[in-house]
Amino acid sequence: MPNKKRQPFYFFMLEVQKKQRERGKHYSLQEMPAIASPIWASMSKEEKAKYEEQAKRHNGQLGSSRKLVVKMPNKKRQPFYFFMLEVQKKQRERGKHYSLQEMPAIASPIWASMSKEEKAKYEEQAKRHNGQLGSSSSIKTCHGIDYTEVEREQRQAAKQQKTMKEDVRQMIKQAILAQKISSKTYFVIHINYFCQSRGSDGEPHYDAAELAILDFSLEDGIKRGMHTFMKLDTLPYGYSFEATRHTNDTHQLPLPPDTIGQTTIREAVLEVINFISEVDDDVCPPIFTFDDHIPVVRSIFDDVLSQLATANPGDVRIYSLSELLFHLKAATHSQAVIAAPQQPFASVFLAESYLERGTFDYAEGLPCEYHQEIDRVPNCSQTKIKGWAFSIIRSCAPDLGITFMEGKHEPMNTQPTPQPKIRDDESVFTATDLTSEANRSNFSHSAPIRNPWGAASQAPTGISSTANTSSYFNTTKDSSFANTDDFPLLRDIKRGKGRGNLL
Ligand SMILES: [Zn+2]
Repeated sequence: MPNKKRQPFYFFMLEVQKKQRERGKHYSLQEMPAIASPIWASMSKEEKAKYEEQAKRHNGQLGSSRKLVVKMPNKKRQPFYFFMLEVQKKQRERGKHYSLQEMPAIASPIWASMSKEEKAKYEEQAKRHNGQLGSSSSIKTCHGIDYTEVEREQRQAAKQQKTMKEDVRQMIKQAILAQKISSKTYFVIHINYFCQSRGSDGEPHYDAAELAILDFSLEDGIKRGMHTFMKLDTLPYGYSFEATRHTNDTHQLPLPPDTIGQTTIREAVLEVINFISEVDDDVCPPIFTFDDHIPVVRSIFDDVLSQLATANPGDVRIYSLSELLFHLKAATHSQAVIAAPQQPFASVFLAESYLERGTFDYAEGLPCEYHQEIDRVPNCSQTKIKGWAFSIIRSCAPDLGITFMEGKHEPMNTQPTPQPKIRDDESVFTATDLTSEANRSNFSHSAPIRNPWGAASQAPTGISSTANTSSYFNTTKDSSFANTDDFPLLRDIKRGKGRGNLL
């Protein structure tokens, strides 16, 4: 819309949008407040001066009678507006002061995950507010953006979110009823990628670089794990700059065609499906990851699943880790065997903040060998999933009186007490990219190598496993992983053996 008054933030947003476009990332103006707000909030007065100048110049050329969108009183408001005010107030009570400009980025994800019942209160407030006003003025966010656009996109996401929320709630409820809250197994995943591109359908596409998944329960801690680097020959055309930038900022893995991995993303996803299918009760249990990482994992899985004749996108559920923590903590708190258990999280948002702390980012034994060596420990997929699992265990397991074991419930060397000895004849399991230069030396001392891929001639060697007592991914209790039957070969997957209803 031309000829309307603009705030400095508007010009900043346009500039960020332009820069992102140059990097091959195309964001609509509706998406921009969420992206630009956090940066804006952290900028100094001097840094903002340029945009204030632009706004002044722009507005000076207009008539003086227009009111600024931000300060317009008595305008129609959406329910989300009132929710935003409440979140802002709550944050202020906690000593966190956010401007209204910052709030959409904070409140949107929570709003998207709320049920109709939870929103009713704010709809009531909006109705009351708008009813006292005259007729319809168009509804804008505090950035002057037509909110109906944004809401349409949010409704879509909200539907998916609601199913997820309900699933997680039910999952924990079932575990309580079955008295399995301490033994229930959860899967956690993280995937590093080379770059985000736009497919021909306009949907974001991610080229995976590193994948790590583990399972854990409160009782046993981290049980099994799988880690691999991806083999990729080429990047999407025109994305090498973006890939270089993203890679340098994060995992620093060599770019295609020099990738160090031996596994294609298709093989890795199939192996993940294998991995999660080994656990008893669910045919295909959900996989959890940190909230802002869900779109990445979901997109990568759906890309692979859509190419399989016997599976559909969405067959593998990628769920919110903070949603899991929120419900799990509420459950352990209600069943606490200790006198003064740590309080449950008041909201999913707070559970997310807790997970975001990165408490275990630099703890011993978390990263893969490659990231340990190049000093990119917090960016490693393996660091992330182990850190998240340890965080959840630390929050919930003490309520149930579970005794911590180093390497399973918490990182190594976190306690002054001597670590428990693992007998050599007890089975331990690890899976890692043994074929990469970076990892080869790490496992040279290990006991008999069991490579689930190796036996099949056509199988890739990117993911391999070995018995290794020094590994983080070990277990003293579950000896079943010494048995190759538990880790089916790729050819078995192709035949569709033991694939549940997925393949
Ligand atoms: Zn790594």
